[in-house]
Amino acid sequence: MATNLSLSSKVEVFPCPNCRQTINTSMHTCPFCSAAIDRTAADASAEVFAQVNQACSDASYLKIMAGSALTFFLVQFIPFLGLVGALGFRFVEVALPFMSIRWWIRFGSLKTDDPDYARARRIAKWTAVGSILFLTLVIILSIIFRRLIP
Ligand SMILES: [Zn+2]
Repeated sequence: MATNLSLSSKVEVFPCPNCRQTINTSMHTCPFCSAAIDRTAADASAEVFAQVNQACSDASYLKIMAGSALTFFLVQFIPFLGLVGALGFRFVEVALPFMSIRWWIRFGSLKTDDPDYARARRIAKWTAVGSILFLTLVIILSIIFRRLIP
């Protein structure tokens, strides 16, 4: 009972099912369109809304990582900074597929028509596919070259 009470007294934000304005779960009617708010539906919606927000911010982080992978790759060819570039690239090369897969496990099955989520999903798809293909290629090439050069 105590858990129930603390759960329902927690105020969260979610989009109004009628007008899509962001409102919070403490309201009984929407201040924008006066639609009645169903408490259970509001809580469920707030839960999805919070996850969608997290999915979007994680996806923008994936995008930054993909951008830094490219930067580190190019930095490898700059004199004196080569080692920094190489180390940074090695790290991102492994971290990016890992983080992308984690994104899909956490947010891949969210049910929402939020356009930001659709955009986040596209970013996560390309970082996952791109980084996994790249890592596979690197592994295959390193196996081939180790066979060729004893
Ligand atoms: Zn409304």
